[in-house]
Amino acid sequence: MVHAHGVRKHFAKLEVLKGIDLTIERGQVCCLLGPSGSGKSTFLRCINHLDRVDGGKLAVDGDLVGYRQNGSRLHELREKEVAARRRDIGMVFQRFNLFPHMTALDNVMEAPVNVCKTDKSQARDEAHHLLEQVGLGDRAGHYPAQLSGGQQQRVAIARALAMKPKLMLFDEPTSALDPELVGDVLDVMRRLAADGMTMVVVTHEIGFAREVADTAVFMDDGVVVESGDPRQVLVEPRQERTRAFLSKVL
Ligand code: ATP
Ligand code: MG
Repeated sequence: MVHAHGVRKHFAKLEVLKGIDLTIERGQVCCLLGPSGSGKSTFLRCINHLDRVDGGKLAVDGDLVGYRQNGSRLHELREKEVAARRRDIGMVFQRFNLFPHMTALDNVMEAPVNVCKTDKSQARDEAHHLLEQVGLGDRAGHYPAQLSGGQQQRVAIARALAMKPKLMLFDEPTSALDPELVGDVLDVMRRLAADGMTMVVVTHEIGFAREVADTAVFMDDGVVVESGDPRQVLVEPRQERTRAFLSKVL
């Protein structure tokens, strides 16, 4: 589902991704870990067309990010084409950026109705169903300000799922939450993984990564230092840099 070969990205003189190699198969969960500034968010943003790749190859579901292939020629994607590709990718950020003036239900219905032109009553039924799936069936009429951080984050997940994405990206979805709210969000993500969703999750929840991930990837300074079975990478890392990092977060 995600194939990265030597992916490079720089901001002015700052090289942030220095050749990322990574493969995530359909239905798999990949957890990305690494120190602040190592390029984790930038890599997710590249996958989601929010940052442009400067070198190497990055493909999602067989399509090169940023380009359309016509025979042997590559054409840069137009804005509309980027938007169409992005519809297949759901993203959840650290801060749950819900529309504050809309109820939970309206937040979840918004994109299907406005972007996909889904029939309103159908979108409403699906939104109710999604809110139930994330344990918020009884909060549909609440506004974000009336919900806890964990509840808001679960609405944000439901909102991303409403577009029926084939890939979900999570960028530290629980790190802004009070500790007692983290578990409910991780439970929703755990269930999503069990249902077969392909997921890339930046997280420092080592327990979650160990239990749910098919692959754990440790990044540092724009490269993948070590990747593989989370029970190996996170329990008996081969690289000193991984070990040093884990000893700080555990
Ligand atoms: P954190 O754990 O703190 O979220 P991260 O691994 O997600 O870190 P990134 O956000 O990908 O790291 O940032 C990697 C580097 O790129 C940092 O040095 C950051 O300052 C820089 N950077 C990110 N976005 C931009 C930008 N738009 N312009 C310039 N520099 C940027
Ligand atoms: Mg980040």
